[in-house]
Amino acid sequence: MKYISTRGSAPALDFEGVTLAGLASDGGLYVPEAWPQFSEHEIAAMSGLSYVELAVRVMTPFVEGSLTVEELRDLCTRAYGRFSHAAVTPLVQLDQQQWILELFHGPTLAFKDVALQLLGRLFEHFLKQSDDHLTIVGATSGDTGSAAIDAVAGRERVDIFMLHPKGRVSDVQRRQMTTVRAPNVHNLAIEGSFDDAQAMVKRMFNDDAMAASRGGEYRISAVNSINWARLMAQVVYYFAAALQMGAPRRKVAFSVPTGNFGDVFAGYVAAQMGLPIEKLIVATNVNDILHRALATGDYSAGTVTPTAAPSMDIQVSSNFERLLFDLGGRDGAAMAEQMRGFEASKAMQLTNAQREGAARLFASARVDQAGMANAMTWANEQCGYVLDPHTAIGFQAAREAGIAASTPVVTLATAHPAKFPDAVERATGMRPSLPTRVGDLFERTEAFEELPGEYEAVADYVSKHATPSS
Ligand SMILES: *Cc1c(COP(=O)(O)O)cnc(C)c1O
Repeated sequence: MKYISTRGSAPALDFEGVTLAGLASDGGLYVPEAWPQFSEHEIAAMSGLSYVELAVRVMTPFVEGSLTVEELRDLCTRAYGRFSHAAVTPLVQLDQQQWILELFHGPTLAFKDVALQLLGRLFEHFLKQSDDHLTIVGATSGDTGSAAIDAVAGRERVDIFMLHPKGRVSDVQRRQMTTVRAPNVHNLAIEGSFDDAQAMVKRMFNDDAMAASRGGEYRISAVNSINWARLMAQVVYYFAAALQMGAPRRKVAFSVPTGNFGDVFAGYVAAQMGLPIEKLIVATNVNDILHRALATGDYSAGTVTPTAAPSMDIQVSSNFERLLFDLGGRDGAAMAEQMRGFEASKAMQLTNAQREGAARLFASARVDQAGMANAMTWANEQCGYVLDPHTAIGFQAAREAGIAASTPVVTLATAHPAKFPDAVERATGMRPSLPTRVGDLFERTEAFEELPGEYEAVADYVSKHATPSS
């Protein structure tokens, strides 16, 4: 399988290449040259497979040329062996029509584990083959940092440097990062905001002089959802859920709490591969750029409003570019032009082809604080089921979407409620407790380096502690 950039001028790469590269060199995002297709018969034959076997079936076409089926199976077995539920992503029924797909049974209690546990192992596998070394640098306001750290802690040939804004992530989120003790894990608490930390990471990616001036060459990579391998791993649970609900005979709708558009784009990929999906509901909080884009064609960034669902507090959704590229006839030059316009003015209009194409599969909803609290209260009172704030936004959007009663609606539960105990307590009066497997989080010792909010200090630290590439 070859991958091409949404902006048309970066070289095509194989799966190994896109996994290690992350972003394309022309600033675009990698997508498969063509969507693999499964026939109805092939999809029917997947019913009843274990999660790992299903993952192998769904991902094999994407990794072709870079991994054998045996290697893929081995990586999946180890990645999904870390999950606390044997079904990996179990379904729970809340009423006649509404279902919850629990994606939070991984080590850090958020759906990002599903992809990152695999990505960490893919890095290790490919770097061993090429006898190379990778330096991962990222900034986090919460879930990505802990999931990425857990995924690479103790792995060979990878160092991870995770910047978080000092004093501005929740205790659970910080402890999930800082209590992981492994020599290749470096937690950096930075003075300033998340945006300041993020800006330093971006600068480091473009800082060719950094490696040279500090006496080493580093291969720097990212682990955010621009990495194709993450999206690929997320396609699997759309198949898992739909097969259990009766696919391919019966269509299913999904509601997805959305931020960077990675998770819901994986649903779009599943549909392109032949999975019968009735609708993909893009649920946003009051940071509603995606809802506005899908409802009116107006993709314009405002300022971020902090909410109780922080992983969706976003104004620019990187992965939306992948959808626009695919719907716009895969014209890299036109996409590059459209994105240049957006980067200059922070606003753009979708073309008619993009709007009409999106409307065929996507619906969207904006859910505010009251809607979120309403969903949490309903689920708790009617079903004794506790939703985290992100999932509550998805669930509220699912209930409001007006999907025909005969079509089941599956809301993706992206985080365990115990990750956001304050918001859950405010809405339901109940304080969710951490699952026993992470129960001693507050007794473990933390380790992190405090650094000033200055680029030079951070760049110095990274280059002193990273292993040069070969
Ligand atoms: C990352 C995250 C999201 C948003 O997912 P995207 O792929 O960025 O759209 C939603 N909920 C939770 C809990 C998350 O951690």
